[in-house]
Amino acid sequence: MNKKINMCWFLKVISLMLCLLVPLASLRAKVPEFGVEGRIRVKPVFFLVGDSSTEITEKDMVAFLRHLEIAQKHYKRLLKTDSFVLADAAVVKSNKTQEYFFTEKQFDSAHKIVSMLLAEFGYDRWDCPFVFVVVVNRQFKGGEDYFGGGRTFNGPPNSGGGIVLLEMDSLRKDFPYPFQSTLVHELGHAFGLVHPDALGYDLYNNDSIMSYNQKHRSNGFKQSASPGGLNPEEYLMLSYNKRVFPEFRLDKVQSNKQSLKKLIFLGPMNETIGPFKHFAGVGYELFYNGKKVNGPEAALYDYSTALANLKWNVRNRPGVEVTGRYNGKVMEFGH
Ligand SMILES: [Zn+2]
Repeated sequence: MNKKINMCWFLKVISLMLCLLVPLASLRAKVPEFGVEGRIRVKPVFFLVGDSSTEITEKDMVAFLRHLEIAQKHYKRLLKTDSFVLADAAVVKSNKTQEYFFTEKQFDSAHKIVSMLLAEFGYDRWDCPFVFVVVVNRQFKGGEDYFGGGRTFNGPPNSGGGIVLLEMDSLRKDFPYPFQSTLVHELGHAFGLVHPDALGYDLYNNDSIMSYNQKHRSNGFKQSASPGGLNPEEYLMLSYNKRVFPEFRLDKVQSNKQSLKKLIFLGPMNETIGPFKHFAGVGYELFYNGKKVNGPEAALYDYSTALANLKWNVRNRPGVEVTGRYNGKVMEFGH
């Protein structure tokens, strides 16, 4: 059997699964063990495109930092024993135009901005110690054409940093969306949290900061009287995120008692921000007759996805000795 063909085929299956299963669901609280290497900090960035006419003022900078400190206190109130830490603010200019960066697909824009920032600060998608919070200084055209989003570079906790994109107009005028409550929500995504409907809660009425609950909306620097909390699954997810919240203790949070131990990861950003990488003994590894055949994305799988993939391979590769490892340990399963 031609092993090279098998590998390509497997990569295709993996890629297809990533498209279909983002976010990757898991009922078991087992995550890839990347090891904890240095704290990931939240880095404020003003991002100017080449053809933008607006300048960054001292007032903008003060407002941005004040919003970040309010968000930091919010996370501290929720987590009690820890919050995120801030890195120095930066202003980054690009010679490229608005047209290049701000395409109709925010997904593509996020990838372009991340690529540019990684190059600017000299990191790759794996070793970058920042969650970039980027205020994009561009001419906002109005309507629905605005930016507000957050995501991780790689998905699982401790696999790297992330990105939050926010509009300059919102920082200055609280429009098209309130800056403070949106910042808290998008940071949650950059720390690896999904929307609460993926966990079985109501997207609009749940009290989580990750919901679309209108009660959470801030007004300028003033937070809502009910600015939003976290669901047990979200506390659990953040407890795994040791690179962002090294001091956070799940047992110090009341709601841990009712934790359902359900984890859902965000999917990774695509390879336009840098290639996936093989990690030995991290996450899922698949072997045919003792030879490793998995694609590098398998390192990012949660345990349930890995197990489903292993079972599929056992069923569909007759005559091949199929084995799987998760975090370096042989995976066992009944028939
Ligand atoms: Zn969201």
